[in-house]
Amino acid sequence: MRIAMIGAGYVGLVSGACFAEFGMHVHVVDADPSKITALNAGRIPIYEPGLDRLVADNVKDGRLVFGTNLGAAMEGADAVFLAVGTPSRRGDGHADLSFVFAAAEQVARAATGPIVLVTKSTVPVGTGRKVKEIVTRIRPEVEIAVASNPEFLREGNAIGDFMRPDRVVVGTEEGEAGERARELLRRIYRPLFLMETPIVNTSLETAELTKYAANAFLAMKISFINEIADLCENVGADVHDVARGVGLDGRIGRKFLHPGPGYGGSCFPKDTLAVAQTARDFNSPLLLIEATIAINDARKGQMADRIIAACGGSLAGKTVAVLGLAFKPETDDMRDAPSLVVLPKLLEAGARVRAYDPVAMDHARTMLPEGIEYAEGAMDAAQGADALVVLTEWNEFRALSPAGLRRAMRGNVIEDLRNVYEPAAMRDAGFSYRSIGRP
Ligand code: NAD
Repeated sequence: MRIAMIGAGYVGLVSGACFAEFGMHVHVVDADPSKITALNAGRIPIYEPGLDRLVADNVKDGRLVFGTNLGAAMEGADAVFLAVGTPSRRGDGHADLSFVFAAAEQVARAATGPIVLVTKSTVPVGTGRKVKEIVTRIRPEVEIAVASNPEFLREGNAIGDFMRPDRVVVGTEEGEAGERARELLRRIYRPLFLMETPIVNTSLETAELTKYAANAFLAMKISFINEIADLCENVGADVHDVARGVGLDGRIGRKFLHPGPGYGGSCFPKDTLAVAQTARDFNSPLLLIEATIAINDARKGQMADRIIAACGGSLAGKTVAVLGLAFKPETDDMRDAPSLVVLPKLLEAGARVRAYDPVAMDHARTMLPEGIEYAEGAMDAAQGADALVVLTEWNEFRALSPAGLRRAMRGNVIEDLRNVYEPAAMRDAGFSYRSIGRP
């Protein structure tokens, strides 16, 4: 089985390496030659635990190849996967499909025989059919079947998620073309079906919408628990106990009930905006999701206000240490991270900001304003600081000793926006400590 994967980002690279691990021959192409040069030199352009090993093993065994030439990748390919980005379009929140459509045009030009074109990117309802139209317009003689196979992996745990997914969703067209694509995807995902992974076979439109509905629901859970956390603070309840008491109900589930500074990352913000926009276009507004977006947007700014208030209402002349910049641990992805809103506000309020993240600082430097200082480590960031803020729950921050932190810092304010520390231990060490939704 041979696969061409278009896009060597978080999804394309992980999916490509995992398909190779399943025993298929995978040729990954990317429009960014620097990524391909890095990959061919044995360097992984993103941080994802375990990916370096998986890629190296499969390259060594000759099943995984990287290049910039789509024609070469499609030579003899049984399926072509699209894993290009679908960021928010400036202005209206719609998914920007320019990368998807450009890739579809390139596929059309490179085709030398019948193709099965599978969209892994998260795309609005109707995109699969537009992709088919593009190919057919450019190359009417090419026999093409399109399918939607949305990806549900999480950065930081991407390989495990891909290898042991909760389900595989496959959307296909009606008729013979749909049959052909479904049968091919059944063969591609055979190793997972042997492990009894459920497969959800649907129409193209249903598969496309399923991905957005899943992300919107998870984002809604986060905004929900964040609001409950705020209420906990006002009534003297503990959000962790509330979340446990609620989440043990099997109808609700315990996951995604952790309060924090608001969701970020490459998916939830853009996907909630896109599905809300689709819903408005179809005159079927998603009011729950509109509220989820509004709550989350406001929350990031509120976190900065909360830090300023904890420092007595002014940051002038104060140093704030920030631990964590990526939108979550175990990734270097900075897209829509809460740090991108919180840190500029701290700077504007007059603070000297000293930040540290184990892997995201190179990306952070290109996305955060000038004036932020970058520390060598967590204790280095804390040295002489008046306040310390935990923005991302990297494990190494959990291990810091309260007494050691207290000795390093000039002030005694800790705003723990991820609830990584024990409140009693922090207070015993002499900190004025606040976390989210805990008394
Ligand atoms: P990314 O930005 O990391 O990677 C996309 C890659 O595609 C880039 O390297 C880019 O250079 C390349 N590219 C763009 N146009 C190309 C073309 N014509 N030919 C070859 N390469 C091209 O994006 P990502 O995070 O991997 O996301 C890809 C898609 O998967 C998005 O739709 C996203 O919503 C979805 N998704 C992402 C995640 C995640 O955790 N990142 C999870 C599930 C789904």
